[in-house]
Amino acid sequence: MIPFRDYILGGHATFTIVSRNTGTRFTYRVQQKPDTNPPLYFVSVLGSRYEFLGIISHDGRYRHGRKSDYDATTPCSQAFGYLMRHVDHLDTVPIDFYPSTKCCRCGKTLTNPTSIDLGIGPDCLEGKVMHLTDRQRMQWALRHEVTYETV
Ligand SMILES: [Zn+2]
Repeated sequence: MIPFRDYILGGHATFTIVSRNTGTRFTYRVQQKPDTNPPLYFVSVLGSRYEFLGIISHDGRYRHGRKSDYDATTPCSQAFGYLMRHVDHLDTVPIDFYPSTKCCRCGKTLTNPTSIDLGIGPDCLEGKVMHLTDRQRMQWALRHEVTYETV
């Protein structure tokens, strides 16, 4: 998969996280608010349907939304805050991350096994994920043997 931060902030990301300690799981959708520069993201959590939970500002920080029906102390909001605090080193925390089979950037269903593996379609992958430094992006591309152009 592409780096977790890039996936989550792709624009139309849907994913599930599971706590390895408790087995608790939550499914989130993170969508970029259209035409925001610097980007602003809305975080929703799946209950009986997706419900607004909070926002991620361009600095990558998650804040619980005042307009959310959930309380800021609710586990799904706490878990999302934890996820974003550890997003660059998720392998060091007891969380399993399951991407959906939809492109994290455009939300279209992925069918190519490589794309499903990456979490992003080829058109969207090409030079359009912007949350890494050029150096990180290059290292990642070398590791995964795909073209991941700098922007
Ligand atoms: Zn796409």
